[in-house]
Amino acid sequence: MLAERMSGFSGSQTSGMRNRARKLRAEGIHVVNFAAGELDQDTSPNIKAAVRMAIDSGKTQYTDTLGIRELRERVAQKMTEKTGVPYSAEEVGFTAGAKQALFNANFVMFQPEDEVIIPSPYWVTLPEQVRLSGATPVALPTVHRGFQIDIAELARAITPQTRGIILNTPHNPTGVVYSANLLEKISRLALRHDLICIFDECYDELVYAPAAHHNIVKVVREMKARTVLIGSLSKSYCMAGWRAGYFAAPQPVVKAIGNLQSHIASNPSNLVQYAALNALQPENDAFVEGNRKQLATQRATALQLVQKIPGLSCIVPDGAFYLFPDVSSLFGKSFKGERIGNVDRLAEMLLEHAHIAIVPGSAFGLDTHIRISYAIPDEEIVAGLTRLGQFVQSLS
Ligand code: PMP
Repeated sequence: MLAERMSGFSGSQTSGMRNRARKLRAEGIHVVNFAAGELDQDTSPNIKAAVRMAIDSGKTQYTDTLGIRELRERVAQKMTEKTGVPYSAEEVGFTAGAKQALFNANFVMFQPEDEVIIPSPYWVTLPEQVRLSGATPVALPTVHRGFQIDIAELARAITPQTRGIILNTPHNPTGVVYSANLLEKISRLALRHDLICIFDECYDELVYAPAAHHNIVKVVREMKARTVLIGSLSKSYCMAGWRAGYFAAPQPVVKAIGNLQSHIASNPSNLVQYAALNALQPENDAFVEGNRKQLATQRATALQLVQKIPGLSCIVPDGAFYLFPDVSSLFGKSFKGERIGNVDRLAEMLLEHAHIAIVPGSAFGLDTHIRISYAIPDEEIVAGLTRLGQFVQSLS
């Protein structure tokens, strides 16, 4: 019954690990879940109260496809502040998560014959969405550069078919943050070769000093005309399940996305829009700041423990909430006679024998690493990474 386009198309592996961990937990096993892509925290009471008010005041009708006016104005104001370049309400839209904004952007801008460059490793969904648009994702390996983009290598990857580049900073899964200098060089290439840029900054608020987040339009204002900026409330506002994301783009792109979305799911949930409108008020900045501070502590705890495990090597991530250690030195070793053949097997063995859920790097296009999310309570981090250390020690 399936169409050709679904061949070789599978579900997100990050969701897969989450589901398996949940299943073991339901069986009463204490699984430490390092596989989550969200903070282990509740949404702030302010935001919840705003939704209750929206329900009680009957805000239950369809809205404009890309969001209520007040919200689009607030998003536009935020993008203007972030970039230092004016954005109007017509140049932004609200979506059911950044994932939907990214899908829509890919779908309206890319087509068969186009190549789209994605630094690799990458967030699992990015290349799949390029494929769904009919275009071809082209991975640009970064592992040998500490996950930073080598500008000469990027220049060499550009062909006459290259239509765009998808950048994600702070980066999932590696935690690297791109410098203003790097973004400037990438912009020069984009301008020279007439490339579109999708700039995913879902973790922009989660960067640890002295590192700082940089926005490509702020760095090079001419990029505004060829960039789609993507933002999310999932991470910084602990709203992953609400599905709240937004984008900013040149008006024809916004219009096309509105048209596309109007035939797919129409507007994102009306109530979530009121939640987002509240979340994006300055009074919630302290909530985000609190989350960032807590994550900074969790990062220190997790890093210290991972760095002590022999055979694992890990860069210090400047943003997001993941560690991405190289575990390839464990391949070929055995646990109680069972051989670790590759990173997928390692992930299964860690879940089975150490009761810790991680995401194998293969999900992100790099099969020598694992992703560990440290956005969980400190005692869980300690328990889980102690188990990881014991597992590694017991290998022969
Ligand atoms: N981009 C990146 C890099 C992400 O890691 C995620 C979520 N894991 C998203 C986009 C999607 O976020 P949202 O929950 O807003 O759809």
